[in-house]
Amino acid sequence: MTFDYDLFVIGGGSGGVRAARLASSEAGAKVGLAEEYRLGGTCVIRGCVPKKLMVFASGFNPMMTDAAAYGWDVKAGDFDWPHFRGLLDAELTRLENLYRSGQKNAGVTVHDARAVVKDAHTVELSTGETFTAKHILVAVGGKPFTPDVPGAEHTITSNEVFLWDQLPKSILIVGGGFIASEFACILHGLGVKVTQMYRGEEILRGFDAESVGVVADAMRERGIDLRVKTDVKSITKTDAGLVVDATDGTNDTFETVMYATGRVPNTDGLGLENAGITLGKRGVVEVDEYSQTSVPSIYAVGDVTNRINLTPIAIREGAAFIETVFHGRPTKPDHDLVPSAVFTQPEFGTVGMTEDEAKETGTIEVYTTKFRAMNTLFAGREDKTFMKLIVSAETRKVLGCHVVGAAAGEMIQLAGVAVKMGATKEDFDRTVAVHPVAAEELVTLKTPTRTV
Ligand code: NDP
Repeated sequence: MTFDYDLFVIGGGSGGVRAARLASSEAGAKVGLAEEYRLGGTCVIRGCVPKKLMVFASGFNPMMTDAAAYGWDVKAGDFDWPHFRGLLDAELTRLENLYRSGQKNAGVTVHDARAVVKDAHTVELSTGETFTAKHILVAVGGKPFTPDVPGAEHTITSNEVFLWDQLPKSILIVGGGFIASEFACILHGLGVKVTQMYRGEEILRGFDAESVGVVADAMRERGIDLRVKTDVKSITKTDAGLVVDATDGTNDTFETVMYATGRVPNTDGLGLENAGITLGKRGVVEVDEYSQTSVPSIYAVGDVTNRINLTPIAIREGAAFIETVFHGRPTKPDHDLVPSAVFTQPEFGTVGMTEDEAKETGTIEVYTTKFRAMNTLFAGREDKTFMKLIVSAETRKVLGCHVVGAAAGEMIQLAGVAVKMGATKEDFDRTVAVHPVAAEELVTLKTPTRTV
C-alpha cells in the first residue's frame, strides 16, 4: 500500500517538530505536520520561553535595590508591561518563524490546520483534506485544567497571562505546583499584589520537602501571601472585583484569579478512539516504552502521554521514536535521573531522589548548608542559599542533589551530569572548588547534617 506520507505528525510543539525534522532530514522520510495554533507549542508560545523572559523581567526589581546598595544611583520605577509585552510578542514571532523555517529546510510539509485521526493510517484536516501515512505521531501536548468551582468562568489560566494588555493590581493564584509557584514569584516581582492558595500542606508536592520549605519561606519573606491548606469554595464577580470565598474563612477581593491546578492531555475530539487507541485517565494516550500506542502504526510523545511533562523529555521521546521506527534501532527514552528547575524566586534546581524517597533505599547521609550568598549579603539582603546532597551510606553514591538560590537551574544541569554518572560523595569531595562561587559549597560539604 502506498501512503501520502511516511510520517504524519499531529502537533508542532517540542516533541512533534523534533521528530518531524529528524524523520525528514536524517531518515529521508516524507513528512507532514499539522499544527492548529502556532508552531513551537506550549514551551515556546505560552510556557517555558515567555515565562523565563518574565522571570528575567521580574528579577530587575531586587537587582536595582542591590545596585543602589552597591553605590549606584538607581531606583526602580514602575514596570511598563505594554512595553515588555510588545517585545515578548516580537520575540515569540521570531521563534515561531525559526521553527517554521527549520521544518521547511528539513523538507517537512507544514499544514496550518487541526488534524483528527480517522483510522490507523489516515488523518483529516480542518481544511477538508485527508492524508494517509504509514505512521502517525500524536504530539498534541496538554492544556490547563480548572476544577469545577462555582464562579470558575471568571478565572483565567497561565495561557491568558501572556496576552494581558495591562498587569492586574492584585491576583489570586490557585495551586501549588510548578506553574502556580513560578507565576506567584514572577508577578510579585513585577509589582502585582499576589496571594497563592494551595490545598495541601506545602507547595511543590513531590519535591524534597526541606528544600521546598526554604523556597516557601523565601516567598513569604518577599511578600507573597502564601496560604497552604486553603482552597477556593466559590468566586463571585462584583463591581469591586472577584470575591473569593475560601476554606480558611476569608472573603477577599482580587482583580484577577488564575487557576494553575495542573494540565490535562489535549486529546478531546482528536478521533483517537476512531483508530482504536486506548486512552487512560483524563484522556492520556497510553504508550509502551517505545512510545507506541495500542495501534501499532500510531505513536505518541510528550505531555499527551503524561510521563514526565518537560520539554527536554518530549524532545528525547521524539528522537527515540525516530531511532526506533525510522532507523530500525529500538530505543527507549531515558526517564531516569532527570534534572529540573522550578523558576521560583529563589530558583530551585533538583536531580535525583528526595530525602523521603532515599530513606526507603537504606541508610543515607544528608549533607546540607544554608548561607547568605556573597553578592546579596553585601547588599544587605537576607536571601538564603540552600544546598543539599543525599548520599547512600552503603554505596557512597549521591542519590539526590537539591539547590535553592540564584542560578540553581544552571548549577543543577552540571550536578546532574555527575549524579547521572553515579558520582560518589568522595568524587564530589575530590573535585576542587571554584572560588568564590556559591556552587563551591557542593564540593566542600564535610560533615553530614544527619544520618538516617
Ligand atoms: P502541577 O501538577 O505541577 O501542579 C498542580 C497543582 O494544582 C498541585 O499543587 C495540585 O495539588 C493542584 N490541584 C490539582 N487539582 C486541584 C483541584 N481540583 N483543586 C485545587 N488544587 C488542585 O501542574 P502545573 O499546572 O503547575 O504544571 C503542569 C506541568 O507543567 C508540570 O507538571 C510540569 O511538568 C510542567 N512545568 C514545568 C516547568 C518547569 O520545568 N520549570 C514550569 C511549568 C510547568 P496537589 O499537589 O494537592 O495535587
